[in-house]
Amino acid sequence: MHEIQIGGLVSFTTIDYPGKLAAVLFLTGCPLRCAYCSNTNLINVRDGEYDPAKVLEWLGTRVGKLEAVVFSGGEALMQGDVVIEYMRRVRQLGFAIGLHTNGFYPDTLARAADTVDWIGMDYKTTRNKYADLVGQNIAHDHMIRSLAVWQSTGKDYEVRITCDPRFVTKMDLMEIANDLHSRGVKNFAVQKYIPYYEDEANTTTPDQRAQFFNDDNLRNTINKLFDSVTWRE
Ligand code: SF4
Repeated sequence: MHEIQIGGLVSFTTIDYPGKLAAVLFLTGCPLRCAYCSNTNLINVRDGEYDPAKVLEWLGTRVGKLEAVVFSGGEALMQGDVVIEYMRRVRQLGFAIGLHTNGFYPDTLARAADTVDWIGMDYKTTRNKYADLVGQNIAHDHMIRSLAVWQSTGKDYEVRITCDPRFVTKMDLMEIANDLHSRGVKNFAVQKYIPYYEDEANTTTPDQRAQFFNDDNLRNTINKLFDSVTWRE
């Protein structure tokens, strides 16, 4: 079996796993090509700069200091079972395992479910706009399947959306919130779009980016649909 490819590492974070001090491993490779991707150095499958054995050894020195390790990317599950095996070894050290995922691999998620404790799932935009944003017309269906797979575990999770005004309107956000509510999602996070790169044809203004957060009506309506809504401005 080939080794896991780790292209980045954050040694300490308080915001990537709810309520836990965590490290984040960024794995290389992603099947999507989101217009707003800020991790473009990770989206091609390539060898990682980090030696997996050394990372595991380093994590051993973090026992008692950190509580969780989050697998992110890219799309962590793109590397398949080699990732699940590595997660198991990290979990044996005593860490909770978090996963940030775009939901593209429901079958791999099902195999990882025993090993992963919490996921943050991206819901990018409405189904009819998904292909424009991510470059893949089956990604929405896969994400919905992944959501169902995870819900069947009964474990905790969050669904989050980044509100890029080029691909999400306030009406879209409302439609997505209603869709998630109807699917029984309890924790929703609405994230502000922060431009990483924009060409001249695709600029957005601060007001356009802030519109989702300045509308009290929208916020109150969405807040009522979930147990918890986090507004990340
Ligand atoms: S899913 Fe994430 S890593 Fe992949 S292209 Fe989209 S933003 Fe980038």
